[in-house]
Amino acid sequence: MASHIVGYPRMGPKRELKFALESFWDGKSSAEDLEKVATDLRASIWKQMADAGIKYIPSNTFSYYDQVLDTTAMLGAVPDRYSWTGGEINLSTYFSMARGNATVPAMEMTKWFDTNYHFIVPELAPSTKFSYSSHKAINEYKEAKALGVDTVPVLVGPVSYLLLSKAAKGVEKSFSPLSLLSSILPVYKEVIAQLKAAGASWIQFDEPTLVKDLESHQLSAFSAAYSELESALSGLNVLVETYFADVPADSYKILTSLSSVTAYGFDLERGTKTLELVKSGFPAGKYLFAGVVDGRNIWADDLAASLATLQSLEAVVGKDKLVVSTSCSLMHTAVDLVNETKLDDEIKSWLAFAAQKVVEVNALAKALAGQKDEAYFSANAAALASRRSSPRVTNEEVQKAATALKGSDHRRATTVSARLDAQQKKLNLPILPTTTIGSFPQTVELRRVRREYKAKKISEEEYTNAIKEEISKVVKIQEELDIDVLVHGEPERNDMVEYFGEQLSGFTFTANGWVQSYGSRCVKPPIIYGDVSRPNPMTVFWSKMAQSMTARPMKGMLTGPVTILNWSFVRNDQPRFETCYQIALAIKKEVEDLEAGGIQVIQIDEAALREGLPLRKSEHAFYLDWAVHSFRITNCGVQDTTQIHTHMCYSNFNDIHSPRIPSKEEIADRVNKMLAVLDTNILWVNPDCGLKTRKYAEVKPALTNMVEAAKQIRAEL
Ligand code: GLN
Ligand code: ZN
Repeated sequence: MASHIVGYPRMGPKRELKFALESFWDGKSSAEDLEKVATDLRASIWKQMADAGIKYIPSNTFSYYDQVLDTTAMLGAVPDRYSWTGGEINLSTYFSMARGNATVPAMEMTKWFDTNYHFIVPELAPSTKFSYSSHKAINEYKEAKALGVDTVPVLVGPVSYLLLSKAAKGVEKSFSPLSLLSSILPVYKEVIAQLKAAGASWIQFDEPTLVKDLESHQLSAFSAAYSELESALSGLNVLVETYFADVPADSYKILTSLSSVTAYGFDLERGTKTLELVKSGFPAGKYLFAGVVDGRNIWADDLAASLATLQSLEAVVGKDKLVVSTSCSLMHTAVDLVNETKLDDEIKSWLAFAAQKVVEVNALAKALAGQKDEAYFSANAAALASRRSSPRVTNEEVQKAATALKGSDHRRATTVSARLDAQQKKLNLPILPTTTIGSFPQTVELRRVRREYKAKKISEEEYTNAIKEEISKVVKIQEELDIDVLVHGEPERNDMVEYFGEQLSGFTFTANGWVQSYGSRCVKPPIIYGDVSRPNPMTVFWSKMAQSMTARPMKGMLTGPVTILNWSFVRNDQPRFETCYQIALAIKKEVEDLEAGGIQVIQIDEAALREGLPLRKSEHAFYLDWAVHSFRITNCGVQDTTQIHTHMCYSNFNDIHSPRIPSKEEIADRVNKMLAVLDTNILWVNPDCGLKTRKYAEVKPALTNMVEAAKQIRAEL
């Protein structure tokens, strides 16, 4: 019985690649230094999988930045503005596309399906010429082979590549990237021929777009592509890998009838209907790569349950055609549990990061082959039992409160207009009131203060004084700018989720549980392992202090439940919405304490609400229903006079967090455009996101222009 890993994290167990990249970009180290780090990381990953006993080990899943950009390089599809003149694409051209350079902006970046990973969107036009321009796949295959590891080279499949591409500027209306299919396939053929010649016996095409709702012409492209590649692929075992959801029934039919494809990879973790599909018909003689070990979370697998699933599949596809795999690439989970020295042993026993998941996959494959490691399986069962029964996981009171929620939709009792009137009487704001989104520039000094307080190098009193001073500075700046509703600037927060997670029960934090977000950027999501409650107020102290410094309304600033959920590793022993309702109840208490503390305007950020949207449209309504319900729970209990705001961002990455200072005229023009469709009394004027990534030299002139624009329009109305 064989085992397979879809893909593996690139950053390294201690983010070695991140530091090597950033040092190279800063000109502090050479390309050779960077290449050395990369080569060592790849070698250790291949060795680790080989030692664990994995049969189908992937190569070309490493990347200096992004696997889609690697494919763009392979195809030579470099947009004209990078002035590339052909030949093998070097690091300079590659990183210019990824990050821009002094004269040319970067290519667009967007979310990779429903993960927190972001890829570089290919820009294609009818005039784009393709040529084989990055030999990365063959080089990595040979590199592994030289180390004694025969790998499965992985390529982003041609159809997914095109479906993830966008039409270049100027041709958006008249052109669909999918029309370039026959132009990119010759390059794929060259790559395949080289891999074959080098001795590859398998090849993996990642075609995750197959899990989306596809139109029939998009589906036909899969048939066209893989039949066009058929002769090039002959003699190879061809795996088409899908992940993140099940494949819709009509797509499944087409996919499983492709004659050049010999193996199919399915996500059995999120693909809830896949088992039924496979059982209702799987092509004879083909391989099923069963993704039973979850690549999207940090929980130890329920090995007994996975084994039972695999055994039921064995009966359908045949013993020698079933391969145990991960649900998706392990790049979406943390790297290695061995580096977690601060987590206690009990919680650690419940977890599995990428390195541990590799071992799980192999143990399952061996068990299927009749060589079950009894000790390993019983340790796993014991850990699962301890997780189920641990008093750290269950909080009766929270469970009861969450169950009690279900009867009501938690809408406010009064109408919006009645509430607006009540609030206006109290707040007495001008029309088009001005405000900001919450954070002000985070200086090196502030980060130092927080770090030293955490490390107990400075006293509570010193810390409080430093933060207080910062808040008072931010308040003064806003008063000088003549902003109407002020914020305290969030100087006490390192991160909008971590800050709350650290104060809520049911959360824990890792030391090295980093996951790549984009390029060299990683996030370290909190782990929600138990019922969530709020033992103490979290923000009231600072908000009240800030309010005491000004006569203007001071906005309370909270992160909403859906965003906390979507930016954490969430427990898998209850539905996500249950966990979300629990967080909502905790935030509700905070909202009510802020109100009791005299805060009249409270903003509840839901920056990540959109990110949680399921990939399939048929599932959107259910998600939006519980997500919106969760938000409503947080503020259903406030008085009419308390004004609730929210902020949802990250809809367009290219515009936010930029150093550009918009002019008064530009802002006024925007506001006027909005006034053409919105009522005057509901429109506010504010920046598009928090200001923590910006510098005061950008923030002050930008806010000055913003306030002036608002005042000018008020005078004109
Ligand atoms: N209140 C947060 C801030 O201003 C919101 C950040 C966000 O939307 N990501 O930083
Ligand atoms: Zn934002």
